[in-house]
Amino acid sequence: VDNKYAVVQQIQEQAKQQAPQQILLSSASRKLRIIPIGGVSDIGDRNMTVFEYGEDIVVIDCGIAFPPREMLGVDSLIPDVSYLEQRKGNIRGMIFTHGHEDHIGSVPYIWPKLVCPMYATPLTCGLIQHKLNEAGITDASLTAVQEGDRLHFGQISIEMVRLTHSIPDVLGLAIRCPAGLFFYATDWRLEHTPALGQPADWTRIAQLAGEGITALFSDSTNVDRAGYSPSERIIGEAFDRIFQETKGRIIIAQFSSQINRIQQVINSAKKFGRKIAISGRSMETYVTIAMQLGYLRVPDGMLVDIRKVNTLEPNRVAILSTGSQGEEFSSLTRISEGEHRHIKLDKSDTVVISASAIPGNEDAVNRLIDNLYREGANVIHSKLMTDIHVSGHPSRDELKLMFALTQPRYFIPIHGGYHNLIEHGKLAIEMGVEEQNVMIMENGRVAEFDNRGGKLTDERIPIEDVMIDGLGIGDVGPIVIRERQLLGNEGIVTTFLVVKQSNGELLASPDIISRGFIYMREAEDLMHKLREEVKTSYARAKEQHGINSDETRQAMRDALSQFLFQATGRNPLVIPVITTIA
Ligand SMILES: [Zn+2]
Ligand SMILES: [Zn+2]
Repeated sequence: VDNKYAVVQQIQEQAKQQAPQQILLSSASRKLRIIPIGGVSDIGDRNMTVFEYGEDIVVIDCGIAFPPREMLGVDSLIPDVSYLEQRKGNIRGMIFTHGHEDHIGSVPYIWPKLVCPMYATPLTCGLIQHKLNEAGITDASLTAVQEGDRLHFGQISIEMVRLTHSIPDVLGLAIRCPAGLFFYATDWRLEHTPALGQPADWTRIAQLAGEGITALFSDSTNVDRAGYSPSERIIGEAFDRIFQETKGRIIIAQFSSQINRIQQVINSAKKFGRKIAISGRSMETYVTIAMQLGYLRVPDGMLVDIRKVNTLEPNRVAILSTGSQGEEFSSLTRISEGEHRHIKLDKSDTVVISASAIPGNEDAVNRLIDNLYREGANVIHSKLMTDIHVSGHPSRDELKLMFALTQPRYFIPIHGGYHNLIEHGKLAIEMGVEEQNVMIMENGRVAEFDNRGGKLTDERIPIEDVMIDGLGIGDVGPIVIRERQLLGNEGIVTTFLVVKQSNGELLASPDIISRGFIYMREAEDLMHKLREEVKTSYARAKEQHGINSDETRQAMRDALSQFLFQATGRNPLVIPVITTIA
């Protein structure tokens, strides 16, 4: 079992102790309930949407999110599935749109709680299966589906429709139930000439529109970008130019899930006679799985072990690396800091960062680029050369095309932050959707549809941030995070008092330990005064609240905090400890 999934065993144990699955009879009249569990609060959120009709539930996607920096020490955020756990017996299936982390990353944590059949395209299945293996989950049911397939889940049926995005094998979902036909297009873009696979099945989408689409769900990530995104093909041409002009080693950093782009690197390497070495665990994983399943076409003998990279002539090798976002410990970050075991940069090296910084990562990416320059490398990034990266999400004109083609009665923008959803909603109105038929969802909010129409209800199912931290799941909450922030910003001061149990008489001078607050050796005067304050505050607190009660310690904490604030202008976490001895 991979370390990052150590917590999964615990989840499995807990799930086993739960009551057996029961089918919950729906008391509500026949209506389709749509509930986003995640995906409508932030880009890169843990995407998950519930479709519930009577006793039938279908869950779409099960993503993971990487926490914002202020959630100190938290490894990842997973969807809050308490609503689904209570209705476990009603879940007919979980279906995945594509293999990106924000859509499949939580499967090892969530599947043991829900134990439902899972369906995805072959590449997505391969990526999910890899996670299940790493987590030691052997009893999951995972079935490969293809575009054009139709799955029946009680009263809900789902047809798979081919879309294009920055990873192959992406699905749009045509969801049918007695309340209507819903088209779910979470991550997609217009791409007439994909580097791998075929363009989206616009013919089928147009046919669905002919049937009458009740509501469209569409990708809001890039609603603030005008025009069309250029084709992924232009990157292949840019890679060719770089490979042609570069004499030394080439290191290309990109998202490891962008199989299409990896293929283009391989194509250029083949054309210009270079071998490829891979650096970074997730890149190895994606390349291995995509090769096994036949998505990547790599000429025999082209891949070389990263440990042998220095035995090759610099102009005969290119290195595919993770770390385009400046992630800590990632391959490119280690290279940029001179910490990589096999790659030391010099003036003859060219580093291509084939990605743009995801919001929130800008500082890390800037630091990364600075460090690469410091190591002397020639750096090509997307601000210097715009055609080494294109987005996998649709810009405004592409979004307009989707509206024009699908002609939905209702519109629900997804996959974006609040401002993206609002802008996408405005675009829908521009494109002919009636204003009252645009539904701006929030995670946990329930929308209801019947065959007459739909509305956003006032019902909200409770959704919390479920955080994974080491071996703990859900045990770190807002209070712990607040304490970590306080510790991180202001430090901690602990005072120790040893007193006589009978009368509270001090048996020794108070001890003080501080971390991250002040350098104690250079603050002897302050420490001396603090020790005195410990004594006097204890004497006062003891009078009022007794020798060692919660109230005594609270009163001391207040007094000491106030003293330290007056003396230093800082607010460390203060913990007074009182030990009584008989
Ligand atoms: Zn995606
Ligand atoms: Zn996504």
